[in-house]
Amino acid sequence: MRAVPAAIDDVLHRTIDSGGHVCVLTGAGMSAESGIPTFRGTHDSLWSRFDPMRLATAGAWREDPALVWGWYRWRMHRVREAQPNAGHRALAQLARRVPLWLVTQNVDDLHERGGSTVDAHVHGSLFALRCFACGRAHEGPLDEYVDDAQRVEPMRCVACGDRIRPGVVWFGEALPDDAWNAATDAAIRCTLMLVVGTSGLVYPAAGLPALARRHGATLVEINPEPTALSAEVDHVLRATAARALPQLLG
Ligand code: NAD
Ligand code: ZN
Repeated sequence: MRAVPAAIDDVLHRTIDSGGHVCVLTGAGMSAESGIPTFRGTHDSLWSRFDPMRLATAGAWREDPALVWGWYRWRMHRVREAQPNAGHRALAQLARRVPLWLVTQNVDDLHERGGSTVDAHVHGSLFALRCFACGRAHEGPLDEYVDDAQRVEPMRCVACGDRIRPGVVWFGEALPDDAWNAATDAAIRCTLMLVVGTSGLVYPAAGLPALARRHGATLVEINPEPTALSAEVDHVLRATAARALPQLLG
């Protein structure tokens, strides 16, 4: 028996049959079943006493760059060890059936490794390293990962000598223009938006479903838990990404 409610099945098939466009907005829950911890939820031992909201800021970097780099080095290591899950792979397959824009808040590369083209990494990418001061991209190799190292002195910029930071958008920073423009364009033009594994608390990304809705899109939330967005969507699928997305393909 199919676990996808008939109404969701219908809206997807109507979108496909009528030449509509899908926009998929993903958050940290998308990668949870690949073993990448979300920000809001359970945490792993080494970093359990740190609040990500206090590590992912420019202020935290200025105060203690080695602590912040140690945390990002650990996150990069986790991502490198992880594999895309069935949900990532299902989205790559869906894109072969219907025009699809993929907008992610995730800073990992699991969508790409799962076979998708990401149209917008609205919060940047872990591995797009750049200088904190001059912004120059870091092209050299990544420093060696040391297990259980909480503080790691960041690498240095070859141009100006300042520290190399991860290519993510920290709390309080502006989103990259190109990614944000692509994301809003997709939200405005899509006929169906799938909102997968996001708590809907981090703005402006959390405003994309409302933007899509104002422009006529039907919204479907895929998340095992209710979220700040649940009341705004047309349909909810209370299941995990790796279970629900393959089922959507039928
Ligand atoms: P969040 O941590 O605020 O919320 C995670 C959401 O995922 C919750 O609503 C939770 O119910 C849901 N969830 C948990 N397991 C799930 C599963 N298996 N399938 C589907 N949903 C599941 O995440 P957010 O809304 O993306 O916002 C947090 C910020 O943290 C983002 O800016 C993002 O860049 C960053 N972040 C990224 C990663 C990553 O790149 N993998 C990981 C952690 C945090
Ligand atoms: Zn520099």
